[in-house]
This record gives sequence, structure tokens and C-alpha cells, in this order.
Amino acid sequence: MTTTKYIFVTGGVTSSLGKGIISASLAKLLQARGYSVTIQKLDPYINVDPGTLNPYEHGECYVTEDGAETDLDLGHYERFLGIPTSQANNVTTGRIYQTVIEKERKGDYLGKTVQVIPHITDEIKRRIKLLGSKHKFDVVITEIGGTVGDIESLPYIEAVRQLRYDLGSENSLVIHLTLVPYLSASGELKTKPTQHSVKELLENGIQPNVLVLRTEKDLAIDIRKKVALFCNVDLDSVVQSIDVSTIYEVPLRMQEEKLDAAVLRKLSLPPKVEPDLLPWKEFLKKLHDPKHKIKIALVGKYVELPDAYKSIHESFIHAGAVNDCAVELDSIHSEDITGDNYVKCLQQYDGILVAPGFGGRGIDGKLLAVQYARENNIPFLGICLGMQCAVIEFARNVLGIEDAHSTEISHKTPNPVIDLMEEQKNIVDKGGTMRLGGYPCDIKKNSIAMKAYRKNHTIERHRHRYEFNNDYLEPFEKAGMIATGVNPDTNLVEIMELTEHKWFLGVQFHPEYSSTVLKPHPLFVEFVKASIK
Ligand code: GLN
Repeated sequence: MTTTKYIFVTGGVTSSLGKGIISASLAKLLQARGYSVTIQKLDPYINVDPGTLNPYEHGECYVTEDGAETDLDLGHYERFLGIPTSQANNVTTGRIYQTVIEKERKGDYLGKTVQVIPHITDEIKRRIKLLGSKHKFDVVITEIGGTVGDIESLPYIEAVRQLRYDLGSENSLVIHLTLVPYLSASGELKTKPTQHSVKELLENGIQPNVLVLRTEKDLAIDIRKKVALFCNVDLDSVVQSIDVSTIYEVPLRMQEEKLDAAVLRKLSLPPKVEPDLLPWKEFLKKLHDPKHKIKIALVGKYVELPDAYKSIHESFIHAGAVNDCAVELDSIHSEDITGDNYVKCLQQYDGILVAPGFGGRGIDGKLLAVQYARENNIPFLGICLGMQCAVIEFARNVLGIEDAHSTEISHKTPNPVIDLMEEQKNIVDKGGTMRLGGYPCDIKKNSIAMKAYRKNHTIERHRHRYEFNNDYLEPFEKAGMIATGVNPDTNLVEIMELTEHKWFLGVQFHPEYSSTVLKPHPLFVEFVKASIK
């Protein structure tokens, strides 16, 4: 195929309707028919990327293989499609303006007034088309963040309008996602918000081709006809997206609604084959009917917002399913764990995970969680800061180095078992300057890690500034905490594990970013397995 087809996904009425999941589900269906598809997210905020955002703002910061700090929707795209995304898949207003302003300073627009239209919209269009032209996907799905009508979304909507004109109606289409609320007092489903939201799009020159209606109740044919009539959309392109128990059901619901068929027809693409979703359905079957059940404690400090550890939650769903096991993941605020209550807090759990994080708040609770898991032979996984906590705890309570710490938390500690990486020492800027993305890791024989990976080499994604201090490696290994994963180029310790323990592993990298539905991450799979026994 020569021409890339572009699908734009907008949202109306309210935020949090799940544009990311609809985009990922449609992409999954097209992929299962044999098309190469990627998904891109355009975020209207002015941060250049979400790397500097507190997780409370937009949830987890997801990291791609190529080291981009991105919106968590990219995690959904990867988990659904099983193919990597990259920096090009997430663009923010900040990045658009940064590019345009840099060009202006270089003199690229010499003599001209630089304006939102055409300069900002042209840069948005360039970023959208890049994925099609450079990476040659058959279909690029671009999700526009925010809600239609927001001031900050306007340049994106205008760019979509222009692109539709440039590309032609056969090569592009707009899917608009809205809400059909149910008013229990009158027992009615209401279409007016959808009509208003489509009107808003029309005012900006865009006629949506497909409407996806979020709803708690089945939409009868009358309601669909009404929406079709008042929004100028074909009846077969009014699709309902009913609430489901898991996001992984959505591709099947969209298939039932024939969303993929409508999209292909409108883009003049041959249907090829019916989507083959057999492995996906097998995953769902296991997910819905598990034999085992375990409880895992997720110890962190952003626990009030489940999105803050999105990829960890999803990784347990994937790993649970292959193990035929329902994983109940309880978030525990590390500040709530104290020397007086830690046994009571943690004794009911089959496994303990200490989460990634930054700074010293709640660190003592994390150290207690590590100690409890270590001393009581409870399966333990420490991720990034969680691994660093495992190292500090071992130094203090096993090696007897009472003042051992990380220089992130105690700058002047006489025993910096975790220390700032050499390459980080002269960095002052905060944005995009951590050690980010995929780096190689060699895995030692006869280790827990090797048993999980079943290979001696892997590549894992990172997001950190501090590392294990190799000056301390000898005493650690002598006492039974060994480095079983090491970066072959720099010697940086990637995995620490305990020899005398059922299953105790700390990883400097983030396995949660690369777990997908059909390829759960081996460390999560083995952690769940160990927790079942
Ligand atoms: N704050 C730690 C570091 O920068 C851990 C980072 C993380 O958990 N992602 O090294």
C-alpha cells in the first residue's frame, strides 16, 4: 500500500471518556486484520513532556524504548498492540512551540510574523504526518487530548481540519467520542450533550464521520437513529461503547459494533480478513475465570491515584492471567507504615512490591516493607527506588552499616550505597535529563532473574539518576545479596537478588513499561507464580 490513512480521535462532553482505550481497541482490530497501525497522542499542555509532572497531575509518566517520557496512554497503545512507540508518538503544545521558536531564532521565518496559523498548525501537521511518511504505517491513529471546546485544543482541531482537506476524505476520517448520560430520575438516556458537542466540532469546520457513544446502558436503535440524524452521521457509524469490567474487553465490544468495518469502508481499505483475536480471547477467558487468588501489597507514595502506577497495575493483570490467578493489588501509602504497625499492615499479603519514586518522603515505610519481606520469606519485587530501598535495608540490617543511605535522600551520608551516577553529576536541568529508555543488561546464570528470563541478555527501560554504588558490591555479595543483572558497557548494577530467599529481586529498570497483554513481563509472571505458592 502506498498511502497512509489517518484517523483522528477527538472527545467531547467531558474528559476521561477513554479515547486512549478506544484508539487502542480500534488499532488492535485493524492490526488483527493485517494492517500496520500506530497511535499517536497530541497533548495540549505547555510542558514539553510529562517528565516533570507530578503523577497526581496526569498519572504515571510512561517511558518508551527510545527514552521519551510520555503520556500514560502510550502504555495502553503498547500493551494492546505489542509494538513499541517512540518520541514521535507523543507531542505536546510545549514541544510544538519549542520547535517553532527555535526555528524563529535560527531565522527560518526571517521577515515573517510567526503566528498560530499557519506556523503552529503547520508544525502540528508535520508531526502528525511524520509517522506515516517516515515509518510507513498503513494507518496512523492520532488521539487529540482534551475536550473539544477547550481553548488550548483549538490549534489541533484546526490542524485536523486542514489535514482532512489536504489528505482528502478517502484518506482520513474523524471519530468523535462522546457521552450519552443516563438520568435515573426520568429513566432516560440523553443525546443532547452529544448533539452539542458535534455542533461544537462543526463550528470548527469538522464533520465527524464516526461517533462512539460512551454509555452505561444499551443504546436502542431509536437513540442511534436520532444521533445519526441530528449529527449527520451514517447509522452504521454510530457506535456504542458500553461500560465493561476490564479495558481489555473493549476491542471485542468494538468488533461487535463493527467499528473496524465502518472505518475500513470509509477509508476505502479492503477488509482483508476477519480480525483474528483468538489469543486475546484466551487471555480474557483466563482473566475472567482464574483458579488462584493472591493479594499483593503495592507500597508507594502516590497511592490515592491508581493511574500513578498504571503500568504496574496492568502488568499484574497480564501476569495474573498467564498464571491463572486473580491478583488483588492493594495500594499502601508508605507513610502509613511505621515501626509499630508494619506487621499488621503487611501480614495479609502473599507478595510485596515497593514502587518507583523520587525523594525521601515515606522512605522509612518502604524500608520496613522491604525488611518484612526479607525476614519473612515473602516474595518481593523492588522497582527502581524500590530496588534502591532493598539495597539500603540490606546494608543497614544485614551488613550492619547503620547510616547507609542514598545520596538522593541524605546528601552527606558517610555510606552512600546508592549514589548519583557519574554522568548525572553536572546536570542541572530537570526536563528529559535522567538516564532514560532502553539499556542492555547481562543476566547471571543460576539466578532468579535467569529463571524468569530464560536468556542471558535483555534490554530494559530506565528512568533514574541514582545507582548502586559498586564500591560496596563485595560485602553485599559475600552476605548474600548479589548483582545478577549488570549493564555490560558500564558495569551499572541492574538487578540485585537474595540467595537465601524464596523470591526477592530488586531491579533498577522498569519492567512494567514493557509488559503487554500477549507478552507479559517475565519478572511479573515469576513474581506472581512465587506469590501463589
Ligand atoms: N529517585 C530514584 C533515582 O532517580 C529512583 C527513580 C525511580 O524510581 N524511577 O534514581
